[in-house]
Amino acid sequence: MSADSRPPIVIGTHNRKKGAELAELLAPWGFRVLTLEDFPNPLDVVEDGDTFAANAALKATRQAKHLQQWVLADDSGLAVDALGGAPGVYSARFAGPAATDEDNNRRLLEELGPLPLEKRTAHYVCHVTVADPTGEIRAESHDLCHGRIRFEAAGANGFGYDPLFELPEYHYTFGELGPHVKRVLSHRSRALRAILPRLVALSA
Ligand code: IMP
Repeated sequence: MSADSRPPIVIGTHNRKKGAELAELLAPWGFRVLTLEDFPNPLDVVEDGDTFAANAALKATRQAKHLQQWVLADDSGLAVDALGGAPGVYSARFAGPAATDEDNNRRLLEELGPLPLEKRTAHYVCHVTVADPTGEIRAESHDLCHGRIRFEAAGANGFGYDPLFELPEYHYTFGELGPHVKRVLSHRSRALRAILPRLVALSA
């Protein structure tokens, strides 16, 4: 099957910035990418799993069955060692159910207080799941990106915790480094690269 005749893949997220990152990572491979905004009535899937894998599966399988399309969903978040892995699957709502990125970043800084930089280690996690139009899982992958949490926000690129998340080998945050570096090093790009051969094979 040529790239043109492959079925489209729907990115199963309502988070526009995350969706844009996933779409950009898929585009060079010739996949036709749609978003939930291309459909009149997408589901608002309740993410009540207690692992990244469970939530990614919920988002991919339920949306795929509902839309009768191939759906790629990611569940991702930040795990901070000094906080026992929090906020983890609660990353989007760390500061409460309607929290903004700024609220969550503020709460993170409050929780860590004056803890020295070497103890502020953390990693981003990303689980990617692809479901077919019947809602069956056909591929999944999982990857991490290691860093540490700064004392104050720096840079306006990315989203979520990016202004606080420093890559130790660069001494800059993802907020400062911008999309080109994030496209190579992030948890999302690593997880997506790992699943790509399987995706290409599925649609061949
Ligand atoms: P999800 O949409 O339920 O997977 O929630 C993901 C949440 O984890 C986001 O709202 C952010 O708070 C955080 N997160 C995940 N990936 C990233 C990233 O690449 N940069 C910054 N924050 C992220």
